[in-house]
Amino acid sequence: MSTISDKQHPVLKVAVNVPLSREFDYLPPKGEPIPVPGSRVLVQFGPRRQVGLVVGHADGSELPREKIRHCIEVLDDEPLFGKDDLALVRFTSNYYHHPVGEVVAAAMPAILRQGKALHPVVQMIAVTDLGRTADIEALARRAPRQAELLETLCDAGGDGLEADQLTELLPNWRRVASSLFAKGLIERFEARCGEFDETLAPAATPGPQLNGDQRQALEILRSNLDVGAYLLEGVTGSGKTEVYLQRMQDIIEQGKQVLVLVPEIGLTPQLVSRLRKRLGIEPALLHSGLTDIERLAAWRAARSGAARLVVGTRSAIFTPLKKPGLIIVDEEHDHSFKQQEGLRYSARDLAIVRAKHLGVQVILGTATPTLEMLHHCRSGAYKLIRLPRRAGGAKPPSLHLIDTARAPANDGLSAPLIDAIRSHLQTDGQVLIFLNRRGFAPTLICSSCGHIAGCDRCDSRLTVHARQGQLRCHHCGLTRPLGTACSECGEPVKPLGEGTERLEDALRQHFPERVIMRIDSDSTQKKGSMIDALDQAKEGQAEILVGTQMLSKGHHFPKLSLVGIVNADQGLFGTDFRSSERMAQSIVQVAGRAGRERRAGDVLIQTAFPEHAFWSTLISGGYERVAEEALAERKATHWPPYTRLALIRSAAHRREDAIGLLEVAQRTLQRHCGDQLRVLGPVDAPMARKAGRHRAQLLLQSTDRRRLHILLRELRLVLEQEPAARKVRWSIDVDPIELF
Ligand code: ADP
Ligand code: ZN
Repeated sequence: MSTISDKQHPVLKVAVNVPLSREFDYLPPKGEPIPVPGSRVLVQFGPRRQVGLVVGHADGSELPREKIRHCIEVLDDEPLFGKDDLALVRFTSNYYHHPVGEVVAAAMPAILRQGKALHPVVQMIAVTDLGRTADIEALARRAPRQAELLETLCDAGGDGLEADQLTELLPNWRRVASSLFAKGLIERFEARCGEFDETLAPAATPGPQLNGDQRQALEILRSNLDVGAYLLEGVTGSGKTEVYLQRMQDIIEQGKQVLVLVPEIGLTPQLVSRLRKRLGIEPALLHSGLTDIERLAAWRAARSGAARLVVGTRSAIFTPLKKPGLIIVDEEHDHSFKQQEGLRYSARDLAIVRAKHLGVQVILGTATPTLEMLHHCRSGAYKLIRLPRRAGGAKPPSLHLIDTARAPANDGLSAPLIDAIRSHLQTDGQVLIFLNRRGFAPTLICSSCGHIAGCDRCDSRLTVHARQGQLRCHHCGLTRPLGTACSECGEPVKPLGEGTERLEDALRQHFPERVIMRIDSDSTQKKGSMIDALDQAKEGQAEILVGTQMLSKGHHFPKLSLVGIVNADQGLFGTDFRSSERMAQSIVQVAGRAGRERRAGDVLIQTAFPEHAFWSTLISGGYERVAEEALAERKATHWPPYTRLALIRSAAHRREDAIGLLEVAQRTLQRHCGDQLRVLGPVDAPMARKAGRHRAQLLLQSTDRRRLHILLRELRLVLEQEPAARKVRWSIDVDPIELF
């Protein structure tokens, strides 16, 4: 090994976006200043040019100096990421055993990943003076698509729209633009991309006076004891958001920034407008609904400190912050904080790590804390703050069971539920019917031979989507036309069971004169349609809401007085060790939508198993008791949070390849098995075939987290070099929340 100890010419440790868990050595470009860690460089990587990020400097390399390549170019004159931001990247790569270059890629907006400037020049399209006077109606008769484009640009005003924004509105605008350019009706020009402006918000308005519980919670947060992580467990409607708001104000007054992480569909305009109004600050938003340029502008504002309030979904956890002061994770229990593919990180867990590293407070809020968080509170690692009552005097909703063995449900609705809906509507209440299954029916069955329509590529049934006349696989996206005859015997087929579409139809039959609105990911595909639907739901225009978990999260429907939970049994006999925790969370969350203001809420739950112990625990003891019992059970059976898990997944065209690779993994690990480590498998995944690939898994369970990670590191290196791995897609999932 030859070493270079020339401090003037350090070796650059560069993270490159490739699936290998190492950094690569480069020398600075000849004759240019040395890029500091956190800056991007352009490098030759094999046959290709790649954007890399300098994550460190070293004095030497394992390679002889003359073999190390020079970077082609330094792309940033100032580092994009600071020391602390890079520390989070490194931690993420180490903890999730994921290539550092891919972590860096996840931490950067797309535009920066592509190597473009931090302040890129963007193409703008605008209407000209001539275009403004054009006769749009006449144009619409001859060339409707041209007219549409012209009108859109007229609406946008003199500054025009970025090409990206225009593509969002009119995906094919480029096809019709040329003739408008030729006629001089529209023009294009280049501009620096827009800056985030914090002062766009209206002046701050005061909120309600905090009640006793809220004041006490705030005092604990302000006293900021030696622990930095706070679990704010407050029943739905207890005023957690008011507590966050006051704490945010403290931090912002100290001149620091607040980062708020919210679940994917929790980032509703309602929350954003509440923050904006109360704090008088425009938040920088980071979520998947933005154009690349918008996302970059928000990211830049967080990094420069121009935005004091940054609100985003999962990946916002990696956003650099100039002066971090507080991190809030709202709805801590929500699964969307865990990425389920590629880099399988938990943004909630990284928030805790990042806050600790920065020495700032992190507040995790929820009505239904995960057992992991409760466990950490018991052990004293985190501090628990409770808001046991609803704010402003609203009463907690009361839960009742409907036994569907005695009161059968037709198309999902039992007679007692229909009666309750009627009586709530008659007294001017609003009703929400919850079913966590979209489509018309989960199964299509032949009434003669019993054949069930299945997916060709997965071990799954096809869901009937009657509105589109389709059968769809919810696992791989396959679609087929919905026929009326069995593909095997030609006899008539019929949909079995119910999804939200069928419930909607049934409700329309029972209540033809009422306004019914279905909200699920099918009904809200168009951009902005979910926002519109939720606005209408909130204002009470829709009298009956029917939908999936989309409706259960964080929304405040002032008039809602009845929640009906249809087919609640899905989780009662689940095989996953988290089934009961999840089911309780989802029921308590959706139940919490009822009776949030003056009127007390009723919750009716249809079940075929009213004697199941789960129900009595939930109804008499609430979520808290379910959690307590589940914790005791996990302890006895050695599941998390009492042990740590890692799941090695593999998928291949042939079963023996998928299993074979995991056998290699198992042999590597076997030597270390013992009291502290159990290796379960390899076995077929619960859904063994998905999208045409065979899937298998190996589960590692350990009481010693450090040793587990040492083993995973070794395992990753073995698998990266294993020839058999070339035919297999494999991944390591640390702290998995889905065991399939
Ligand atoms: P959570 O975040 O716990 O669901 P919110 O903060 O959204 O609760 O509060 C629920 C409702 O109660 C909101 O309408 C809010 O304005 C109201 N509220 C919160 N705190 C108070 C208070 N101290 N006095 C009166 N109303 C309050
Ligand atoms: Zn499929």
